[in-house]
Amino acid sequence: MKFAVLDFETTGSQTTDEITQVGLVIIDQFQVVERYTSLVNPGIGIPSSITTLTGITDEMVADAPSLDQVMTEMFPLLFDCVLVGHHIPFDLSFLQRGLVKCGFPRFQGRVLDTIDMLRVLFPSITSLQLGMVAGMFGLDHERPHQADSDAEVTAQIWMICMERLLTMPLLTVQRLHQIFDPEVSDLGWFMEEILAFKESQTAVDMDAHRYFRQFTINVGDWGEGEPVRKDEQLRALDVPFTDFYEDVKRLLQDKFEVYENRDSQEQMIQEVQDSLKAQRHLMIEAGTGTGKSLGYLIPALYYGLKHDKKVIVSTHTINLQEQLRERDIPLLSEIFPVGFRAAVLKGRSHYLCLRKFENKVNMGDYEPGKEDAITAGQMVVWLSETKHGDEEELHFGNKGPQFWHTVASDTDSCLNRQCPWFKKCFYHRARNDANTADMVITNHSMLFTDMKADNRLLPHYKHLVIDEAHHFEEVASKHLGIELRSTAFLHTLQWLYKDSRSGQLPMLRLRLQKFVEEERAAAWCQVIDTLYPKVLMIKEEWERLSEALYQLITAKNDSSQLETGQFVLRMKDETLPDNWTELLATENNIFLNASDILRTLEKMVNQIKEVQDEFEVQGLITDLGGILKELYEHRDALHFFMKMSDPDYVYWMEAGAYSKSKSLLLVSVPTDVSSLLQEHFFETKESIILTSATLSVNRSFQYSADQLGLQIPRNEAEGKLRTVQLPSPFNYREQALVCIPRDFPGIRGPSGETLFVKALVDSLSEVALATKGRMLVLFTSSRMLKQIHPAMKERLQPNGIDVLGQGVDSGNRSKLTRMFQDSKSAVLLGTSSFWEGVDIPGDALSCLAIIRLPFQPPNHPLVEAKCENIKKRNENPFMKFSVPQAVIRFKQGFGRLVRRASDKGIVIIYDTRVIDTHYGKHFLYSLPGPKIEHMYTEQMVPRIREWMGEDGYEKHENI
Ligand code: SF4
Repeated sequence: MKFAVLDFETTGSQTTDEITQVGLVIIDQFQVVERYTSLVNPGIGIPSSITTLTGITDEMVADAPSLDQVMTEMFPLLFDCVLVGHHIPFDLSFLQRGLVKCGFPRFQGRVLDTIDMLRVLFPSITSLQLGMVAGMFGLDHERPHQADSDAEVTAQIWMICMERLLTMPLLTVQRLHQIFDPEVSDLGWFMEEILAFKESQTAVDMDAHRYFRQFTINVGDWGEGEPVRKDEQLRALDVPFTDFYEDVKRLLQDKFEVYENRDSQEQMIQEVQDSLKAQRHLMIEAGTGTGKSLGYLIPALYYGLKHDKKVIVSTHTINLQEQLRERDIPLLSEIFPVGFRAAVLKGRSHYLCLRKFENKVNMGDYEPGKEDAITAGQMVVWLSETKHGDEEELHFGNKGPQFWHTVASDTDSCLNRQCPWFKKCFYHRARNDANTADMVITNHSMLFTDMKADNRLLPHYKHLVIDEAHHFEEVASKHLGIELRSTAFLHTLQWLYKDSRSGQLPMLRLRLQKFVEEERAAAWCQVIDTLYPKVLMIKEEWERLSEALYQLITAKNDSSQLETGQFVLRMKDETLPDNWTELLATENNIFLNASDILRTLEKMVNQIKEVQDEFEVQGLITDLGGILKELYEHRDALHFFMKMSDPDYVYWMEAGAYSKSKSLLLVSVPTDVSSLLQEHFFETKESIILTSATLSVNRSFQYSADQLGLQIPRNEAEGKLRTVQLPSPFNYREQALVCIPRDFPGIRGPSGETLFVKALVDSLSEVALATKGRMLVLFTSSRMLKQIHPAMKERLQPNGIDVLGQGVDSGNRSKLTRMFQDSKSAVLLGTSSFWEGVDIPGDALSCLAIIRLPFQPPNHPLVEAKCENIKKRNENPFMKFSVPQAVIRFKQGFGRLVRRASDKGIVIIYDTRVIDTHYGKHFLYSLPGPKIEHMYTEQMVPRIREWMGEDGYEKHENI
């Protein structure tokens, strides 16, 4: 099979645009046999943005061959080839237009896309951008956005894909062939060809892989684990903790030649040990560089193993959970004197239900279009590799999450021991691992899901470590609240009945029809027939109601003023709209119809359940049980929201400004969760360690304690809670300079924002030129980021500095961070998610600019409701809530700068409130001791140069 790998550079992406460069690589027998490349005279001007991107100028193409010449040379090369490209529809459309224009027939051969192939064959790949993929495979991509270089690298990627496909187990390829229909797509045709080739070469090799029910999998039966320690190992714990820790330290030193003792880490280890032993709670603030994870893992393992108690560690982010799983736990497993077992347990919907997935693939139950088939293909390949069956390992396309929802594990559709997959099941494996582990790593969401499930999900525990604890209260609010997403309701209804072919009810009917001679089956078919119109009626009424609710939000919001691209509207009894009674009537109809369906279905499902084996509908009935539960939840969430009868809740609606009623989200959240946290955690657990880099405000833990409902005792030695702020292991005075331009304009007044933006572009550009990029700019407003981005780009790009914007160049934080780190010189403009969790150590980041103090918008419903509550207690909501909340976020932002003891850098605060207001000091006093200076804006660049000195920017002059 011959492949022609094609890439064009063009003047743009419209039909009026022209080709400026062609790159073509011919592959035959897995070898590059020919290359063709040429510039093309487009006959029209090249826009400057394209020149900036590709480096191709009008002058370069002035004497280049015409399209006619190029097509004449290219056409014979394409003969008999399969056309391949990275995002091939783009190149194909230019090729066909070019061929027709020059009097050649259109290309009639097969067409394949490296993007589809990469998605299927490398299911965990995080970016499909050509440069990123090349980087991932270690390929040289000399000149991105030049056709010859792009075609070359695409050809190499294609060969990697081929090799991967050909070395896959035969069963996996057979499954891929089953998923992609050769009659429908060229990808299907290609899978058929590959399968035929592989079948002629190999048989299923039972030794090389594990197979089960015609799938290649990478796990055996769960519960097969070996014991992790001998009883005598436990004797190592029969010594005081300090002696034990000395041993661990020595082992760490043996392992790492450059292992450094860090005072703050040692102090943390001792504090955690003392609190576990004394059965009290501990709030401990540990900044970057402390080595916080080992700071709690070592004493927690010692305590848990010694006293035979299970310890749970909970994180907020997946990143931290993965870091514990991939880095810290394996390290401790290697050196710890006593063997231990640690397991990760996430929420159930993170795990694949193998039974549902098998069913889906066997039935070919996909949405029209290629997306679902690609996701299924991806998952077949992933199954041959995954040990955890965890959704996080997959990188989905747009419709992936929707697909996942139909194959995710859930309680109500689980056959448990009756399931043929039970001993391979990922969820039951994770549960079993957690039950037999000494330490379980989970996340905050899971703690609350467990709490709502009466503690039936996590193993029994009395000792808990909460890392990233500054998010604990917020996650509690979210999980203890009730949300209803418009699309979720629609999906549930469609999953029940979409049309006569798709949906669980038609599928059940089809199955029962085989037994239609049977009286019971005929009766159930009749029942199902009566349900279809009711499901449709609910669907129509829900569409009508969500549209009306969406209209309410848009009527009260001005989209041009939106910060987050989301409309938000708080619903309050006193300000209900005139048509609310009408909307309540619609909701009432939905409630009654849904209740009617639920009653009928539940009765039928229970009857069929008794004889499900006889009718071969076990799986379908179990899945229907799951859908019924969802329908109950949606019905009740909508009812609760519309009635608004609980005064301790705050109710609001959200919607995307551009995606209409389909983006509607109804939220009901308890305003204050502190009493629930008390009841379910702080009063019932023996010891809870709360840790984070940002728990204190102005050296006080009061705000964090208030949020969690904890009392800081006057005399900590006697109380149940101790608070500790650890000293930073960094020398911030030497490592960080905070500059505050004291004459910087504010944004008050009609022209305030315009003046602010202009001054900001000027100042940021000057600083970026001095620092050669290496700058992260943190915004509180995505609208302002988008205003600044083009102006900064215009100023900095001619000087070789890239400007990357969140939501402009990409919405994906990790992708942007990688682009920033890969660039020789770049400025990264980020909003929300960049304020925390981004880790850019070393030279790549030397300057952090904070644009405005990160106050939450005071009109967000939850903030508003919390402030109302504080006011009712005759306290000042601004000082009690808004300022500390902003300080915590400010500290998180500041923490992006110095990640290692060798990092040195500047923080600029573009907000004079930090020095002009009485509350500004809370922000500055909360920082870990950097040098703070305020000055006129014009003095900043010279001061920055001076601060960084010889070992700073100058060494990068030649970057
Ligand atoms: S045991 Fe339950 S969750 Fe696991 S594969 Fe079977 S049905 Fe799905």
